[in-house]
Amino acid sequence: MRDSANEVLRAIATDGPVSRAQLARDLGLSGPTLTQATKYLLDRGLIIELEQTASTGGRRATLLGLVAGAGQIIGVKLAEDHLVAVCIDMESQIQWKFSSDFNSRGEGALEELISILKKNMKRVSGQLLGIGIGVPGVVSPGDFGTTKSAILGWDSVNVGKILSERLSTPVLLENDVNTLAIDESLFGRGKDTSNFLTLTLGRGIGMGLVINGELYVGSHGAGEFGHVTVANNKQLCECGKSGCLETIASDPAILNQAISKKFVRENSTILDVWKKARSDKKIATALYKIPGQAIAVALANVINVFGPELVLISGEGSEAWDIWSPWILPELEVNVVPTMRNFNIELDPWDDEKWAVGAGALVLRASLATSSDRSATGMAVKSRLRIIPGNEVSKRL
Ligand SMILES: [Zn+2]
Repeated sequence: MRDSANEVLRAIATDGPVSRAQLARDLGLSGPTLTQATKYLLDRGLIIELEQTASTGGRRATLLGLVAGAGQIIGVKLAEDHLVAVCIDMESQIQWKFSSDFNSRGEGALEELISILKKNMKRVSGQLLGIGIGVPGVVSPGDFGTTKSAILGWDSVNVGKILSERLSTPVLLENDVNTLAIDESLFGRGKDTSNFLTLTLGRGIGMGLVINGELYVGSHGAGEFGHVTVANNKQLCECGKSGCLETIASDPAILNQAISKKFVRENSTILDVWKKARSDKKIATALYKIPGQAIAVALANVINVFGPELVLISGEGSEAWDIWSPWILPELEVNVVPTMRNFNIELDPWDDEKWAVGAGALVLRASLATSSDRSATGMAVKSRLRIIPGNEVSKRL
């Protein structure tokens, strides 16, 4: 029964408010099962009955809606030198936010993070379901949230486990590009799309893969798009191998090229490069043609394998999509199998806050996950939402 309650809660959270009749149709549940499931959720204060006039016939139909305040979640986007965080409700709406300097490479980086989170957890009114953290790096699947991030300077740090214990709160960790894909699949443009890719450009180049409506995480991580081999340049990448897409197409790689070709002065930033490239076609070609075509060929290969309906372009580097797209789009067209060209490419405006919301969506997803997700952290989130009893969690932890 709890499994049906779970399914009903997920449907109301993502598609609600919705009538019982619609839920029964969408989920293929019998009348009695649905009644039992909705009663279970109503009794726990997770959903509420709303009155709404039906569009035809004038009969008033009762719709079921989520009680957004039933749980609060903190979502954090970690960067090398700062963090941005939000507190969201169960409808993914931002209640309040905070940001802080954060030195990921410092001696006491984890202690610093713990103290920032502790201070802000005190501000949460109501039930804190958990903390979701997006990191720019590889996160091992499973409960311990072990992360390896060249950007943060972390090598196999059990961040999830350490933070969960020290904060006495479920802490879920995921690669930040994946958190963005989760948010898009639950609440954004990917909501009605079963198969889509999120490509992020910028400091790193990443990819989130949503297949059959679920984020694909692989057995050893997935979506390491920046590290597909595209060049025979012997240039060592942060990941440990050479010839990676990032070695020619990341913002730092483009900036290095621009400095060595003397298009910009030493100490310039990527913003200076964009300015030059926008005002001088020759500079744009010299800097973006080869990397753009490399991104396009690599992306076409992924599209040919997975056949998505939608490709979202995001990341801080996507602000230069006007410079990239003249090189990427035509090359993509040529390299995608003709029968698979029926997909859309959309620009997904980038900001840190959105990524923090995505990190919060990790916890939201755990709270709404069906019974197939039996990870201890996921179960701990559910017990805080009172969707499963606490003793079932302690057995698993
Ligand atoms: Zn690499």
